[in-house]
Amino acid sequence: MSRDNLPPEIKSQTGLDPSLSSAPVSSPGGLVRVPDVRLRQASLPFVGDQCHLDPLLEKMFSVMGDNGGVGLAAVQVGVPLRIFVLQIEGEPTSYVNPVLLAAHGWYYPGEGCLSVPHRHFSPPRPRIVNLSWQDRSGTARSGWFSRLHAHAIAHELDHIDGLLLQDRCVLGPGVGSQPVCGSAC
Ligand SMILES: [Zn+2]
Repeated sequence: MSRDNLPPEIKSQTGLDPSLSSAPVSSPGGLVRVPDVRLRQASLPFVGDQCHLDPLLEKMFSVMGDNGGVGLAAVQVGVPLRIFVLQIEGEPTSYVNPVLLAAHGWYYPGEGCLSVPHRHFSPPRPRIVNLSWQDRSGTARSGWFSRLHAHAIAHELDHIDGLLLQDRCVLGPGVGSQPVCGSAC
């Protein structure tokens, strides 16, 4: 997910004001963009050796950072595996084989996407999500996320199921292939 198109109030809350970003204007190689059909495929679970993750995650962190993103799915670097990374505050974090457990409180915060440059959309996103995943060492984790974290996780989970933000505008509330989830949908 791009940080350039986030609402001003979110940028100010999270230190994402573009004036503070060192992201270059141009997009380095490795970032898959529309109309590339790879963005429309559902990604597969990662079942390989954990040591094979590190080169992919490092590439994802690099592409996300070089393009000024707050989130990136593996399919956006041409690897259709169920993995995404976030860079919201502190160190970048990775989420392997994420599974959405619940999502609540739909709203329309507005956003952009590194793979859909120069466009802005306002699809419905959850204010709170509950997620389980594996970290880069293979340890199972779960947790609740809110605000920009929940927003970005929903965006990346859509990527993992081959959906772009303009698709979510049409589909309505939901995350990935799940049309509705959680008791507050
Ligand atoms: Zn995106």
